[in-house]
Amino acid sequence: MNKYVNMLLQIQELETVVKEGGIMSPARARGDKASMELRNDISGFKQNIPFDIVSSFERILSRYGVAVCPMIDSRCTGCSMKLPIGLANNVLSDKNCVACPNCGRYLFPDDEHLARPGDEGKQYKGVARFSSLDLMLPKLKASSKEDAIRQIAAKTAESGFVENAETFADALLKREGLVSTTMEKGIAFPHARGVKACGLTLAVATLAKPVPENGFEEPLRVMFVSAVPIYSSVFYLELVSKLANYFANKVNMDKLLNAKTDQDIWKMMVMIGR
Ligand SMILES: [Zn+2]
Repeated sequence: MNKYVNMLLQIQELETVVKEGGIMSPARARGDKASMELRNDISGFKQNIPFDIVSSFERILSRYGVAVCPMIDSRCTGCSMKLPIGLANNVLSDKNCVACPNCGRYLFPDDEHLARPGDEGKQYKGVARFSSLDLMLPKLKASSKEDAIRQIAAKTAESGFVENAETFADALLKREGLVSTTMEKGIAFPHARGVKACGLTLAVATLAKPVPENGFEEPLRVMFVSAVPIYSSVFYLELVSKLANYFANKVNMDKLLNAKTDQDIWKMMVMIGR
């Protein structure tokens, strides 16, 4: 990957973490301090990139929410345009900082995309686009947040949605370390970008016994765990808002906590995904 594109990608990741912090843990002072540190990191990166590249990046980021995205099969994943061969080759070589001629997003060669298991051009609808019955995990027995994350990552890899359980778990824990994704009501949204996965992936787990969570009175009871491809970042944030709103309602939350089988959770997810 081109060195400037690599730095822009890291800035984009940090900007997204700051944005998510505002959505996921708005009421916490710790979040504010962490956000300040992230802002300092972002300024540091920007000083090492030519001004015209940074200003174009900032313009596109504020317009679309994503300003750096992978090229898959010579297509820009931001706008789906097929790139001319010469330009696609430039993206593959590290020398150039290439922007899509259609949408202006900066491009890098994709090595994260994984084919979905059993997927032969199948068209999935609703929540089935990014999840499956295998990833509904009622009454998971976990001793801590980390233990739950590792178990859920293992299930996600077993189902073939991500390539490697350990890499996925480590990325989830690293992201939690920047700004926790726990919200009120004992719900957390651990997620990781940049892991080899077959598109956006969502696993849903309820915990058999709630586990304590730092900085919160209420223990953790529900976890939505995701692998998030860069081109799904904006959709992912919408999904998080939707899930958080739905489960802020006590009736819905109780129904989820009382779910005994994967089918029980799946039915709820299908309703929300519509
Ligand atoms: Zn494009």
